[in-house]
Amino acid sequence: MTKTIVPASEGRSVRVAKGQSITVRTPEGGQAADFFAYNAENVGEWLSPPHTWVTTFSLKPRPGDVFISRFRRPMLKMTHDTADGVHDMLLAACDHFRYEFFGHKGPHASCSDNLQIAMRREGYEVSVIPQPINFFTNIPVDERGGLSGPKNSVPPGAEVTMEALIDLICVVSSCPFDMKAQGWEINANDAVTELEIEVH
Ligand SMILES: [Zn+2]
Repeated sequence: MTKTIVPASEGRSVRVAKGQSITVRTPEGGQAADFFAYNAENVGEWLSPPHTWVTTFSLKPRPGDVFISRFRRPMLKMTHDTADGVHDMLLAACDHFRYEFFGHKGPHASCSDNLQIAMRREGYEVSVIPQPINFFTNIPVDERGGLSGPKNSVPPGAEVTMEALIDLICVVSSCPFDMKAQGWEINANDAVTELEIEVH
């Protein structure tokens, strides 16, 4: 088992071979974890939530669900979830435009930048930011399709585990969202905290 710490507001990549599992954990609870996965042999093929919705018939990832790529091939199977299903597959990764939208001036860490930096460390320049699975992110969808971002109450130590169905490069970003934005309480207590990744 190898363990990787994702420092608060940063991103990290891990290689996960076919048959291995990856666990993503929020030690302090309520920290949004933007999750991306690429085919290790072709980073043009990435995990795609919009393609996955139509095979799982769900806007949320659940144990037993198989996540597929934009080429509709199985990439990961979710096997374990102690966050009680509090995840999101709809919100785009944050970027500097989103922070400017909320009035931030100057540079601000973002999940988009974290992904690109993590992939550069793997030797790849990625120009497209895929739709992530946002683990530990509380975005309820109501019966009319409305979205909201209420308080994040994912408990400390909550984790999800997925089995790799092909060789993967996975990237996890500790979402740097720290804005006082009405209706978007992405991280618990407006605090950004570290995440843990285990490959086993
Ligand atoms: Zn983010």
